[in-house]
Amino acid sequence: MNTVLMTRHVRYSVIIPVYNEEEVITETYWRIKSVMEITGESYELIFVNDGSRDQTVNLIRSVGASDPSIHIIDLSRNFGHQIAITAGMDYASGDAVIVIDADLQDPPELILDMIAKWKEGYDVVYAQRLERKGESFFKRKTASLFYRILKHMTDIDIPIDTGDFRLLDRKVCNELKRLPENNRYVRGLVSWVGFKQTAIQYVREGRFAGETKYPLKKMIKLSMDGITSFSTKPLKVAGIMGMIISIVGFVYLVFVLFERLFTDAALPGWSSLIAFQLFFGGCMLMFMGIIGEYLGRIYDEVKHRPLYIVNEVYSKEEPMRR
Ligand code: UDP
Ligand code: MG
Repeated sequence: MNTVLMTRHVRYSVIIPVYNEEEVITETYWRIKSVMEITGESYELIFVNDGSRDQTVNLIRSVGASDPSIHIIDLSRNFGHQIAITAGMDYASGDAVIVIDADLQDPPELILDMIAKWKEGYDVVYAQRLERKGESFFKRKTASLFYRILKHMTDIDIPIDTGDFRLLDRKVCNELKRLPENNRYVRGLVSWVGFKQTAIQYVREGRFAGETKYPLKKMIKLSMDGITSFSTKPLKVAGIMGMIISIVGFVYLVFVLFERLFTDAALPGWSSLIAFQLFFGGCMLMFMGIIGEYLGRIYDEVKHRPLYIVNEVYSKEEPMRR
C-alpha cells in the first residue's frame, strides 16, 4: 500500500474559530456547508477549537461524523480568537482561505460574493459592517470609536468597521504565516502585507445564539494589540505632553520666584502645590504605563514561545499533515 505523504489540496479553506459555541455550532456547520456546496468546488472546513470547555468539539464530531471536509484543530487551551485564526491559517491548504466567526454574525452566504470578487482578481476581500444589530450600545460605540482612533494613529490603511470575516488568496495567507509576532491583530497584519484588497458591505446581525466570547477584558487586549502593533504614536504623544507640561511648569516657576523676590504678596500656595503634585504624578504614571505596554510586548516577543499548542488534530484524511 502506498503510504507516501500526500499533501491536501483543496480550492477553499474555511476557518472557523470556536470557543464554547455549543448553542450555535450545529446550525453554523449546516449553514456554511450548504453555502460551500453551492460553489461546486472542493473545500475544507477547519474548526479551530480554542479551548472550549463545553460540548462544542463533540457536537462538531458527531454532526460531521461522515464528512471528510471537516478538520478540527484542538488547541491545548484558550489562546484567544486571533491566535485561533492563525492556527487555522497554518493548517489551511486552499487556494483561497476564508475566515468566519462561528456565531453566524458573519452571514456565510456572503462567502459566495467574496469568491466572486476573488475570481475577478482581488487578493483580499473583507466584509465591512454598515450597521451592527443585536449588540449592546456600549459595544457598538466602543468598537466604532476604536476603529477610528486606530485609523488616525497608524500610517497603514486599516479599514474601519471591519472584523476578521474575509477571504484571503493563498499568497496573502503565505505572507501572513511569515509574520511571527505574538500579540497579533490579524486584520491589521492583512492590511500591512498589502496586495489587491477590496470590501463588500453588509449589515451585521446579532448572534444566532449564546453569549459574546469577547468580554471587556478581551476587547481591551485586542484594541491595545491593534494600537501597539501598528503605531508608536502613544509614545510620541507622551513625550510631547511631557514637554508641554515641563514648559508650563518652568514658566510658573519663574512667576513664583519673581513674586517671592520682588513683591510682598503672601504665598498661600499649599493647594496649588498639591494640585500640581497630583497632576504631574498622574501624568508620570500614565506615561510609564504607556511605555510599559510596549515593553511588555517586547518581552513577549523575545521569549520566542510558539503562538499556540495543538492538543490533537481530528481529520478523516490519512495521512494527516502536521
Ligand atoms: N473566539 C475564540 N476564542 C476566544 C473568543 C472568541 O475562538 O477567546 C471565537 C468565537 O467562538 C467566535 C469568534 O471568535 O467564533 C468571535 O467571537 P464573538 O462572536 O464572541 O465576538 P463578538 O462578535 O461578540 O465580538
Ligand atoms: Mg460574534
